[in-house]
Amino acid sequence: MSNTLVMDERELKAGQTNSTATTARCLFCKAPLRHTFVDLGMSPLCESYVTREQLNKMEPFYPLHVKVCEKCFLVQLEQYVSAEHIFTEYAYFSSFSESWLRHSSNYVDMISGRLGLGSQSLAVELASNDGYLLQYFVDKGIPVLGVEPAVNVAKVAEQKGVSTLVKFFGCQTALEMVANGQMADLVVGNNVLAQVPDINDFVGGIRVVLKPGGIATLEFPHLVRLMQENQYDTIYHEHFSYFSLITVEKIFAAHGLVLFDVDEIPTHGGSIRIYLRHVEDISKPIAPAVVALRERELKAGLDRMNTYTNFAEQVIESKRALLELLIGLRRERKVVAGYGAPGKGNTLLNYCGIRTDFLEFTVDRNPYKHGRFLPGTHIPIHPVERIPERKPDYILILPWNLKDEIVRQLAYAREWGAKFIVPVPVARILD
Ligand SMILES: [Zn+2]
Repeated sequence: MSNTLVMDERELKAGQTNSTATTARCLFCKAPLRHTFVDLGMSPLCESYVTREQLNKMEPFYPLHVKVCEKCFLVQLEQYVSAEHIFTEYAYFSSFSESWLRHSSNYVDMISGRLGLGSQSLAVELASNDGYLLQYFVDKGIPVLGVEPAVNVAKVAEQKGVSTLVKFFGCQTALEMVANGQMADLVVGNNVLAQVPDINDFVGGIRVVLKPGGIATLEFPHLVRLMQENQYDTIYHEHFSYFSLITVEKIFAAHGLVLFDVDEIPTHGGSIRIYLRHVEDISKPIAPAVVALRERELKAGLDRMNTYTNFAEQVIESKRALLELLIGLRRERKVVAGYGAPGKGNTLLNYCGIRTDFLEFTVDRNPYKHGRFLPGTHIPIHPVERIPERKPDYILILPWNLKDEIVRQLAYAREWGAKFIVPVPVARILD
């Protein structure tokens, strides 16, 4: 344990030296990073929920200063804390969201049909979490292998019958899998690409583990939506990169993988799912959807630096609007509670300076978080039953991407006249 801490401090110092000397370099192409995308100030790690015993202890805060590369336009966050530190004990269990499970089950139906997967195939998921997705392949009799570095969530996956390799994925792990005869017909990576500290090693690993005729699909939030809808709260220390189609295409091309199809999907506030194949596998032509989305991104100016550097002002204005709304409600002595304790909520609350003076408490369905406090802001997290007990006047929905599901679950709160607030793109009270 003490070893890990020493390592982190050393890495942190290295990071600081880097940024003061302005020699930080692009994660992908290594060009120097000189342009700010948005600076959200200092923030604690968004998944490090605080226990009651830790409340009056020091808490580490790190910069949330996002840069954009002038050469490849990769939007990225300098890495201050090692991925080992962030992901070895992870509080996020994918299976707590019903809509995410439905999304995963639909995907498995679609892709196993499209590729004709069967008992001779192998589906591999990178960052397989608690087996939320691979379980649906298991139900169909399709062999699976999850790769997941967090021991606690991997254990849950194993209990569901999802065989899991407890490791970080990269070229080394991929070579070991090949040596074990575990080459993949399908590689799935959902919301993992952004969290990869060495993107070239990760993408190189996909090339290694993918069978010659196999495909990989990766889902991640679309940078265009982040920018157009002010989703600045999806920026956190655990997300090192933020992708457009035009940039991600370059990254995979550099590793011999061709992006041949793309779906736009509603998850996480607007994501894209990209389909990749080996450059040698010419049986899969480039779909018109790829050409169309590429054109839309160019039209939106994603190949010009000023499009990126203009984003910050929009974020500041969104903060002002949220604070204005909350100040008004608190002046009228309204009780405001939160719903959810997601990572994005922690970026938002820390950046806006919202503590128990505005938000009395929040609730979450994940029992791991009950009795703990949000990092930085120290807002207490209770079970959902606290809502009908306290009957707040307003409920701020922190995981706004799930707002329809949450409003449905909390329909009973309308009985005492409670109203719902979403914080972005601009704070508003739902009708
Ligand atoms: Zn770059």
